[in-house]
Amino acid sequence: MLIPGVESLNKVAVIGRGTAGSIAAANVSSLLKGKDFELHHIYDSRIPIIGVGEGSWPSLVQHLDDLTNYPEGDVQRYLNGTRKYGVAFEGWGQRNQDFIHYFLPKRESYGYHLAADLMGELLQESTHSKHIDSRVLRITRVENGAEVELEDHGTQRYDLVFDARGFPKEVKSEQHINISFIPTNTAMIRRCPAVISTAQTGPALQHTYTRAIARPHGWVFVIPLTVHTSYGYIFNRDISSPADVESDFDKLLESEGVTDFEKRTVIQFPNFIHRNIYDGAIARIGNAAAFMEPLEATAIVSAQLQIGMVLQFRCNRPHEYLERDVKAVNRFLVNNMLCYGLFVGWHYSCGSVFESDFWRYARDRAWPRYLTAAAPDVVDCDALRKFDEMIEIVSRSDNDPANLNRKCGLPFGSYMQMYQGLGC
Ligand SMILES: Cc1cc2nc3c(=O)[nH]c(=O)nc-3n(C[C@H](O)[C@H](O)[C@H](O)COP(=O)(O)OP(=O)(O)OC[C@H]3O[C@@H](n4cnc5c(N)ncnc54)[C@H](O)[C@@H]3O)c2cc1C
Repeated sequence: MLIPGVESLNKVAVIGRGTAGSIAAANVSSLLKGKDFELHHIYDSRIPIIGVGEGSWPSLVQHLDDLTNYPEGDVQRYLNGTRKYGVAFEGWGQRNQDFIHYFLPKRESYGYHLAADLMGELLQESTHSKHIDSRVLRITRVENGAEVELEDHGTQRYDLVFDARGFPKEVKSEQHINISFIPTNTAMIRRCPAVISTAQTGPALQHTYTRAIARPHGWVFVIPLTVHTSYGYIFNRDISSPADVESDFDKLLESEGVTDFEKRTVIQFPNFIHRNIYDGAIARIGNAAAFMEPLEATAIVSAQLQIGMVLQFRCNRPHEYLERDVKAVNRFLVNNMLCYGLFVGWHYSCGSVFESDFWRYARDRAWPRYLTAAAPDVVDCDALRKFDEMIEIVSRSDNDPANLNRKCGLPFGSYMQMYQGLGC
């Protein structure tokens, strides 16, 4: 008789307490409720979480509803959240017109702008786990599981380990796909006063959008929360100096009438996808699995997908199928992350209102690399074919209704909105 996969999960570890680790721990806790199992949530309190990550997709609203014990409006208030209906692009593409990439259905579907640290706290409330504050030194695959070596708690064996330790120290081509067609690698963050007026009771109901403002050195996100507005200048430190970015940031804020702001942090980030997101015992999730700059806020939704796929397959399929499922799950996840990456990189392909060093580099040098960076023999999946087909389809004037159901990471409707907005 086949053994249900869930029977093989008696001891699970989640390493990391950033957004990805917090979602994973809450998910495991909820899925295995009523089962006799151990969940260890391991993190090193000396290593801070990234903490930015304030834009989400609509799937998070339902997901938080399922994972927490609060009604939706209370969740939004807890997160200092606003309702995000899409991304408003300013100065992008060659049509010289601002446009919105809406979640679909337009003006109905929304995600949250949220305070990432508060989401972690909220999820902790509904997670039943043993907390271990220690540095993980090594994770090793062993038969039917993995061993985690801790700095001062010895070595523990687990049936499944979620590795949510954040960015890899180094991007190596044997382990990672380097998505070098994305032209940015640094974010400068500032916190400004709130622009959304909050209701006395209940959640803020205004329709809000993440603004993505093209600037000479890259672009700036503007994310309105109920307690502050977050601004982030995304640029390439190999092309623009922090001093030049700083000065253009000042200029932008001045033009917006924002005089009062706090300089928060400068974050360097890699754009990459791990080739082996899931191996049957170790699941890399969040920034440990993949990252691409935050233009379409793809990180939280990617973590949701990684966690959901691994748990679905691991719990609902017979344990005997594990080895053969691993390959399919990994390929699906890599393919999906790469589709997101191609979608984000494509936003730069038509330039912007600025004819600067950065935009020439982004459009003429970085983006054309997608053909080699995503070539099937390099990435072992067919994201490039799906992407090329999607671009061909959106450029047709007469579209077969069957195409409306197509997806390449994002749905046809998202590609269509960007195609029309950018004027490619
Ligand atoms: C500028 C910028 C803007 C972003 N905007 C968005 C956005 O709008 N929307 C979105 O979805 N995402 C956004 N992101 C992505 C966002 O950062 C991630 O969703 C989020 O940070 C997930 O991070 P994480 O949980 O994987 O890792 P982290 O937040 O880095 O957490 C890592 C955790 O691992 C622990 N840890 C690390 N090493 C060890 C060790 N050896 N032993 C034990 N514990 C360890 C740390 O203590 C920490 O708890 C943005 C990212 C950047 C850089």
